Amino acid sequence: MKPPECTICDKRFLAGGGLVYFSETPEDKKQNEKLKQKGMVGHPPNAFWFCDEHIASAQKLAELTKIEALELLKKKYNT
Ligand SMILES: [Zn+2]
Repeated sequence: MKPPECTICDKRFLAGGGLVYFSETPEDKKQNEKLKQKGMVGHPPNAFWFCDEHIASAQKLAELTKIEALELLKKKYNT
């Protein structure tokens, strides 16, 4: 797993934020299937960290893929 660092503001945090799992794209699905195999360790490609300030907005978009959701979030927060 990557260290917690907000996908929107790059803030590193130890508490308050969390991981948001977006809908899998076909590529994410392949990657996650690989990760599920024995002995594979890695960060799910559709999971992103958000700080306490941004996690609520991110969770609202969790039914979208990361591509759609991150585009909307970046527009919203002008990053
Ligand atoms: Zn943030």
